[in-house]
Amino acid sequence: MKLVLRQLPRTIRGTSRLPFLAQDAADALVAIEKDTDGLIYTDMWRDPTMSLLSRRMKKTSQLPGYSPHNFGLAVDIDVKAILEEKKIRYEDLLRIMKKRGWICFRRDGLEGPDYDHFNFLGEFSAKYLTRCTLDPTTWGNAAEYFIWEHFGKELQLETRDVQLRLTALRFYTGPITGMKDLYTREAILAFQRAWDLIQSGSPDMTTCRVLAFVTAERELSPAPAWA
Ligand SMILES: [Zn+2]
Repeated sequence: MKLVLRQLPRTIRGTSRLPFLAQDAADALVAIEKDTDGLIYTDMWRDPTMSLLSRRMKKTSQLPGYSPHNFGLAVDIDVKAILEEKKIRYEDLLRIMKKRGWICFRRDGLEGPDYDHFNFLGEFSAKYLTRCTLDPTTWGNAAEYFIWEHFGKELQLETRDVQLRLTALRFYTGPITGMKDLYTREAILAFQRAWDLIQSGSPDMTTCRVLAFVTAERELSPAPAWA
């Protein structure tokens, strides 16, 4: 799996430590910056370690490889500060974001938990949003559908791939056999302990997804010169 991310212009305001987004998401956000004279961001890209940190601070944060933040497809914004500065209402902000393919996680338009989290679903956002209803347990489906469509194949690993990746991480030094032997099981357990996963010792779907994300090739391009 290869993650291609672009740094946002240096004029971006806020406390986001890793101002990187996927190319289309970055372009759309730069357009919003021009539409609004600039918003204020509290979080953008999360690398694997940032995901762990985020889970320590907020129990609802997702495992690395599960959050749209991991793929450069999400931003958190400082809604209160923005509404006060721009003298607009929350529904205006939702409209401004939506016009550029950035959709709030909440589907009810209300100001509650996660009302500051926006996913980039692009110009075909309606297609992904068909997976959501007003039931909050469905709100993660749109971004998950988007991630699965773009990266799904690469988030599933054969035992052979698991051994190769654990070798790259120095958890495994045995032969690449594709067999789930005791030695492979021990290496998987070590990886699961390191990343706060359920210690099953087997290459379950969650372990494979986290492992695929943690070992993904990354290309981070700097902010373009015009920024
Ligand atoms: Zn968020």
